[in-house]
Amino acid sequence: MKNLKPRLKVREQDALERNHNFLEVALGYNLEEARQEALRCIDCKNPRCVQACPVRVKIPAFIKLLLENALDEAFETIYEDNILPSICGRVCPQESQCEGACILGIKAEPVNVGALERFVGDYGMEKDLADKPVPASNGIKIAVVGSGPAGLANAASLRRKGYDVTIFEALHDYGGVLKYGIPDFRLPKDIVTNEIDNLKKMGVTFVKNAVIGKSITIEQLKEEGFESIFIGSGAGLPSSLGIPGENLSGVYFANEFLTRVNLMKARAVPDSLTPIKLGDNVAVVGGGNVAMDAARTAKRLGAKNVFILYRRDRKSLPARLDEIHHAEEEGIDLRLLQNPVELIGEDRIVKQVKIEKMKLGEPDSSGRQRPLPTGEYTTYDIDNIIISIGQKPNPIIKDNTAGLDTQPWGGIITDEYQMTSVDGVFAGGDVVTGAATVILAMGAGKDAAHHMDEYIKNNHNRS
Ligand SMILES: Cc1cc2nc3c(=O)[nH]c(=O)nc-3n(C[C@H](O)[C@H](O)[C@H](O)COP(=O)(O)OP(=O)(O)OC[C@H]3O[C@@H](n4cnc5c(N)ncnc54)[C@H](O)[C@@H]3O)c2cc1C
Repeated sequence: MKNLKPRLKVREQDALERNHNFLEVALGYNLEEARQEALRCIDCKNPRCVQACPVRVKIPAFIKLLLENALDEAFETIYEDNILPSICGRVCPQESQCEGACILGIKAEPVNVGALERFVGDYGMEKDLADKPVPASNGIKIAVVGSGPAGLANAASLRRKGYDVTIFEALHDYGGVLKYGIPDFRLPKDIVTNEIDNLKKMGVTFVKNAVIGKSITIEQLKEEGFESIFIGSGAGLPSSLGIPGENLSGVYFANEFLTRVNLMKARAVPDSLTPIKLGDNVAVVGGGNVAMDAARTAKRLGAKNVFILYRRDRKSLPARLDEIHHAEEEGIDLRLLQNPVELIGEDRIVKQVKIEKMKLGEPDSSGRQRPLPTGEYTTYDIDNIIISIGQKPNPIIKDNTAGLDTQPWGGIITDEYQMTSVDGVFAGGDVVTGAATVILAMGAGKDAAHHMDEYIKNNHNRS
């Protein structure tokens, strides 16, 4: 540890330049840099990083192969456990997972596992290394609802076991939040498309514009011969503030705002069918990745002053550290311990946000200190406000599936094997946990594939 070199910084696009474009901010390592950072891994006997990864990527093993210049093998080692390495290398909250567990982090900085995974993932993508033979179809049909990370991981695992897998997606493009939520400057869309194409090459069938519960129900899928179904429909319904003025013009929900910019290309004015025109002063409410993405996107769309209103303090911000750091570098102002209580309009257009200053009290059920009102208020002039205080599952599937039990907030209830209250129907990802992370959703999809395989085998043994 004595001679340990500091963690190698990842090259980035300059902050003043990048807040006018949608090109990727983090430029990643080149081979030489990747090898230099890989040298910092001490190849622990008991790699805590692997245990801290929800899909158990064999991190020290792929890093060792990278150092030996066996890049194909390094990619294959990752790909066995993680079918979206270029995506996870870019957006995983590594600080609370693999890197958070890295032993080097106790006395120095952890190995930059994310940047190494991204490097190897991109190498594999360039060389088309994911295109490997899979077993021929066993003729047993599986339906997957939703093409986000949970659905993709589930579909890939089941296809690798020989099943005939079809993904049904409500939107006109695949990838879930990876496509419609996370902006290009963090996750270029050609990378998502490429990783999805790998599943197509494996033989997974994709059906778009298919809203399960509306176009076709879960029951009808069963009647069509799908022996097991995985619901990975995410949490796409935004939560509202519940304060006066929320329905004024100029008020957006982050999901709608980001979907219009990312998926509907609202930024490509005048060609977009759903253009967005922001004023100079934009407030964003919330402190998670979604809020940071909305704020940074607003800046790129031309807003001069973008500020975030968050009711807790800096250390409670749930966003990835990188996103907070990048947002501040790009000139986003964090206004902490402030809670909006009213949106004030003129001619039905939002003009001001009134906030109450907060202080922190005892920890709540989430373990974070509860924000408490102080009775002190102030107002800010705004042209737009983007609300980003959390999402919950859309009720379409629940409302149209007899016997499907859900939590009061809408999350689907599953048993220890991830099966829902409907026989043969499993679920995982945000639709079960509420808004979480890409890798947790992937882990849930992958684990559910194992349980679905067991379920089908048991059924076939019985008959
Ligand atoms: C803006 C934003 C930024 C984020 N940033 C990060 C980040 O940096 N790092 C990170 O780890 N996580 C991040 N997250 C969270 C992460 O993206 C989610 O936790 C993850 O995508 C959940 O995966 P999922 O597959 O469960 O759901 P989703 O990704 O939401 O995918 C669900 C899919 O199901 C489809 N669907 C819904 N209902 C139906 C239906 N009835 N029929 C058919 N299809 C349906 C949806 O259209 C969607 O494509 C972010 C989320 C957002 C919104």
